Amino acid sequence: LPFLGKFKLNYLLKPLKKEYPFLKNSDSSSLQVVNEFLTQSWKNFFQDKSGQIGKPRFHSRKYLKKSYTGKSIIKTAGKRYLKIPKLGYVKTSKTGVLQNTKVKRYTVVLEPTGKYYLSLQAEIPEPEKYSLTDKQVGIDVGVADFAILSNELKYPSFNSSYFEKKAKIWQKKYSRRRHLAKLLVLQDRNKSVLCPRSLESFTNWQKTQKSKAKCQAKAANQRRDYLHKLTTHLVKQYDVIAIEDLKTKNLQKNHHLAKSIANASWRMFRQMLEYKCEWYGKKLIAVDPKNTSRICSKCGYNSSAKPLEIREWTCSKCQTKHDRDINAAVNILHKGSTKLNGQGLAMVTS
Ligand SMILES: [Zn+2]
Repeated sequence: LPFLGKFKLNYLLKPLKKEYPFLKNSDSSSLQVVNEFLTQSWKNFFQDKSGQIGKPRFHSRKYLKKSYTGKSIIKTAGKRYLKIPKLGYVKTSKTGVLQNTKVKRYTVVLEPTGKYYLSLQAEIPEPEKYSLTDKQVGIDVGVADFAILSNELKYPSFNSSYFEKKAKIWQKKYSRRRHLAKLLVLQDRNKSVLCPRSLESFTNWQKTQKSKAKCQAKAANQRRDYLHKLTTHLVKQYDVIAIEDLKTKNLQKNHHLAKSIANASWRMFRQMLEYKCEWYGKKLIAVDPKNTSRICSKCGYNSSAKPLEIREWTCSKCQTKHDRDINAAVNILHKGSTKLNGQGLAMVTS
């Protein structure tokens, strides 16, 4: 069979629309975007030699997050409205930033919480760079204290246990109600009643699903907000930020809830630092985390492995008292600055 590119697929849309008139109800550019995605995913599949990328699959109708992407021209109307094809005027947050830009893509998302979100892809001028402060810092991340800086500052982990607890309660209710509904559906089928009920006709478990999603979203939003504030603060304060390369250390899959949340936050923390450093003209260095918690930051003595519970220890060579996390952060800073200097020299010699 010949491989059809996105333009050839777009030609097929017209006869398809004739055959299935409901396709006309949707934003026409969204169908083109879908063709684009389909072509790309087949290309990825055929060109992949590692065997890790599978065939494109159909999107499940039951998937809770629903979205579409379009690329027609959309216009701002007034201060708080956007005009989107087929949807008409949509109330949004302030559109002032979009005055002199062209929106390239827009995605409408229906979250499992029942809220709609509109995300836009647009070209905007580069953000203003932060002024340089001539300060360097090493950061170690942990579970109890989220970020530990080499200058002995500690930022606590974000605690949203209230909503997490609530989400857990709703999760319990959801599982039980769904289970009961499933049993009733099976009963109907076994007794072959006249009008067997379907799982969708039970509304109670669907309601709990929404409540659960709301609590989870609330906790996640709060945590993201905290991370945004923290990373912006750090990028503003320091010119060079050294962090551990977490890929090798902590990002193994973990079934423990607190740890898996911490893992997710660390990943997000790093991503935010990466792009914010680039935006605001600062430098981020990822160093190999090997031995950072063992070496004495004062004399460089590498003692034997210490169990994780030990928070404080004394170096057996130079008798310095260390806080484990701060010591690690200082080591990360040392590694980062040697790496930075090495880069500088390499650039000079080349
Ligand atoms: Zn020492």
